[in-house]
This record gives sequence, C-alpha cells and structure tokens, in this order.
Amino acid sequence: MQAFRPWENPLSSGTLEISPVAVGPPGWEVSTMSAGESGVQTRARAASRAVGISRVYGTGDTSVTALDDVSVEFEEGRFTAVMGPSGSGKSTLLHCMAGLDRVTAGEVWIGDVELGRLSDRQLTILRREQVGFVFQAYNLLPTLTAAENIALPLRIAGRRPDRAWYDRVVGAVGLRGRLEHRPSELSGGEQQRVAGARALVAKPTIIFADEPTGNLDSVAGAEMLGFMRRSVDEFGQTIVMVTHDPNAAGHADRVVFLADGRVVDDMAEPTAELVLDRMKRFGD
Ligand code: ADP
Ligand code: MG
Repeated sequence: MQAFRPWENPLSSGTLEISPVAVGPPGWEVSTMSAGESGVQTRARAASRAVGISRVYGTGDTSVTALDDVSVEFEEGRFTAVMGPSGSGKSTLLHCMAGLDRVTAGEVWIGDVELGRLSDRQLTILRREQVGFVFQAYNLLPTLTAAENIALPLRIAGRRPDRAWYDRVVGAVGLRGRLEHRPSELSGGEQQRVAGARALVAKPTIIFADEPTGNLDSVAGAEMLGFMRRSVDEFGQTIVMVTHDPNAAGHADRVVFLADGRVVDDMAEPTAELVLDRMKRFGD
C-alpha cells in the first residue's frame, strides 16, 4: 500500500466558503494585535474566556445546574489543568468553551469571537478552524490510518497540511514508525497521541482535552503529558486539560478547581503535592 501523504492530496472541493475572519466581528484581526497597546493591559491575551456562564440541563424539578456563573480566562501559550470532584461540571465547561454545547447564560469567547452570536454553521466552522478537542476515548476513525486520522480535520476543511509542520507534529508525538497503522493496531497511548496530533496539526487557537490520560497506564499517560507540555513550550500551543490525577495536573502551568459547577480555586505553578493537598480540602 502506498504511504499516505496528506500534503500531496488534492484539496477536497468547495466545502468551505466562510473564512474564520468572516465569522468574527469587525476588528477581529486588528484587535488580536492590540493587547498591551493601551499600557493598561499587562496580562497575556486570553485564547478563550467564559464570562458568567451557566449551563442548566433539563427543566423544572429535574433540572441540573452543571455550571453556575463561571468566569474564567485561559491565557495564550499556557497549559491549564481543570480539576474537581466527579459531577462538578468539568466536562460541561470544556464542551461549552469548545462550542460543542451551548450555554444557558453568559458568554464564551474564542479569541475575539463570542460563540453565542454564531449560527450553528458558523460555530461548526469556528470549531474546525480554531478548536482542537481530545477525548478520553480517543475517538479516532477505525478505518483510517494514523496519518489519515491526523490529517482528517484539515481535509474536511479543504486545507492542505503544511508539510514541515505536519512532520514536526508527528515527530513531537513520537509516532513516525506507526503512521500507516490503523487504530486497532495501536496501543491506547499511541491512539491518544494520534488524537493529540490531530488536534495540533490545524494550529488551533486552543486545545481542550477531557481526561486525555484517563484510559492510559502511567507510562503512556506520561508520554501523552510530555507531548502536551512540549506543544505548549515549543509551539506556543494553548491547552486546557481536565484531569483527576494530581500528577497530571503537576505538568500544567496552572490549575483551576471546580466544585458544584463553580470555580473555587486557582493555583499557579502547581506541583503534584500541592494539588493533592488542595484536593484533600474538598472534603469528599
Ligand atoms: P464532570 O465532568 O466534572 O464529572 P459533568 O460536566 O459531566 O461533570 O456533569 C456536571 C453535572 O451535570 C452532573 O450532575 C451531571 O450529571 C450533569 N449532566 C452532565 N451532562 C448532562 C446531560 N446531558 N443531561 C443532564 N445532566 C447532565
Ligand atoms: Mg467529565
């Protein structure tokens, strides 16, 4: 079988006619360069932020408030972990911030675009162009090789992967010898690194990962965490990762703690020990 070379594939025809610029408000491109110009704004620019978001599932007596007035910013080029007890709203937060779910109240921004203003079609395009998502269960297409899985989002978008970038991502993920294998021929750790490469190859504004090491043994988990850390340090990628594991959170630059759908703490420069200590005080 001939090796799959995504950069040589012809573009798929005319699926995309709205550019990401067209979905943004006026000033989209200009405002991305304005951070700090006023002399007031000294913090790093937020790749994504939530402003007073709530998410209520169902109505009436059976309704569940999964997120309750959450405001949080994720700065560019940082690796943030989100932790909290089971049911505290971590997955809901990620889904809402990634545009996979709609909020009940409040605003979600990716860069300078507020997701609530977008039509479903515009949201799909924004997600495709600007958001990477890594699921606990990998979610690869079983009939495609690793290389084809990695390039799939770009091909759907009608974009040709930049070959040098594709090679760097494949190198960073440590999968060079495994690219022609299908998911069933790969270990869990390899499959998750394929999913990581798939998220990274489109150079998204932000990658959300929901318990990406949850199905992996400690060695495979450490490799995945190493890959995410390098993506931030070497490529400037912004990553937000939900995890239960204090060791995983110790790889991040920051930990946001949720409980009962609210942000209850925010820790800079976490270590596994500090995170474990903080978790003990959740009292459950
Ligand atoms: P976590 O990821 O922290 O475990 P989730 O965000 O999955 O928490 O869930 C937060 C709360 O919202 C839980 O009480 C959960 O049962 C509820 N929930 C999540 N998704 C749905 C849904 N689709 N319908 C109804 N309730 C939901
Ligand atoms: Mg969850």
